[in-house]
Amino acid sequence: MSTALIEARDLKKHYPLSGGLFSRSARQVRAVDGVSFSIEAGSTLALVGESGCGKSTTGRLLLRLIEPTSGEVLIDGHSLNEMAGRQLRRARRQMQIVFQDPFSSLNPRHSVGEIIAWPMRLHGLGNETAIRARVRELLKLVGLQPGHADRHPHQFSGGQRQRVGIARAIALESRFIVLDEPTSSLDVSVQAQILNLLQELKNQFGLTYLLISHNLGVVEYMANDIAVMYLGQIVEYGSAETIMSGPRHPYTHALLSAVLGPVTGERRKRLILHGDPPNPASPPPACRFHTRCPYVQDICRETPPPLEAADPGHLAACHFADQIPQYVSRGERNP
Ligand code: SF4
Repeated sequence: MSTALIEARDLKKHYPLSGGLFSRSARQVRAVDGVSFSIEAGSTLALVGESGCGKSTTGRLLLRLIEPTSGEVLIDGHSLNEMAGRQLRRARRQMQIVFQDPFSSLNPRHSVGEIIAWPMRLHGLGNETAIRARVRELLKLVGLQPGHADRHPHQFSGGQRQRVGIARAIALESRFIVLDEPTSSLDVSVQAQILNLLQELKNQFGLTYLLISHNLGVVEYMANDIAVMYLGQIVEYGSAETIMSGPRHPYTHALLSAVLGPVTGERRKRLILHGDPPNPASPPPACRFHTRCPYVQDICRETPPPLEAADPGHLAACHFADQIPQYVSRGERNP
C-alpha cells in the first residue's frame, strides 16, 4: 500500500494584478493553478519546467510559507488547513527547505553554529549543552568540522555554505525537505558532492524530498518521480524512468531534447521550442501550450486536455499523447 507523506490537492495561488487607482480589474496572475500530486515517504519527486512556471511557488505552498488561494496540503493524511497552534508547529517541524542561494539564506552576522542552532532553540529542543553538541554532530554529518561552528558564512566556499544550509534543514529531524534548485548557484565541480550528500542523508534518515530544478541531469540522478509544470499546471507526471525514456507531452519532449545528447545509432527527433512562455496573467485558452506546440490542432485551442493516464501510472495532459514521438530510452543515450 502506498504511503503518501505529502499530498497536494488542487493547490492554487493567484496574485491579483494592480490595474491602477481607479481600476476594478479582476485580472490575476495564476502562479499555481490546480496542482495535485503526492510524494511517498522516502522518495523524491522532481518538479521541472521553465522559470516562472510555478515550481518554487508550489514548494512554498507545501511548506505553508505562503497561503494558498484554494486547495490543501496534507501531511500523513492530515490537512494543514485544519491545523493551528501547537499542531501546526509540530507539522511545520516535519518540513524544511534548502534554498538555491546559500549565501543570501544564511544570516552573515551570525556564526554557523548559531544559524544551525536557531531552529532547535525556536522549538525548545534541549538545553544549550545539548544543542551545541547537536550542532557539532550536524556539522560532521554534512562533511564539515565541528570547529566550523564559530565561523561566519563569508568564511566558507559556496559548497560549504550549502552544507550549512542542509545541516540547518535536518537539525529538527524533519522528514520532508523542499530542495529549491539546491546546486544551481554552485560550481559544477561541487554540485556532484552536494547531490551525493543529499542522497546519503536521504538514505540514512529516510528523508522525503521535493526537488525543484530546471537541470534535468540533476533530476535524472535524484528523482523517483517527475512532475512537469507549464504555466502553473502539471502537464505530465510519472516515474523518472518512464518520463526520461518516453515522454508523452510535447513540452516534456522539448525540455529533454534541449539538454540530452544524440541517440546512439538512430538519431532522435529534436523538438525545439520557440518563444517564451505566455503571460500567466492571460494564459492561452484550452491547452495552455498550444501557442508553442508544433502538433497543435483545432481541438487544442478549444478543449482543455485533461491530465489522464497515457500508460499505467503515467499521466499526460495532451489530446495526442499516444501520437507524440517516443523519446529515446535511457539505455540508448550517449553518456
Ligand atoms: Fe500540443 Fe495539442 Fe497536445 Fe496541447 S493538446 S500539447 S497543443 S498536441
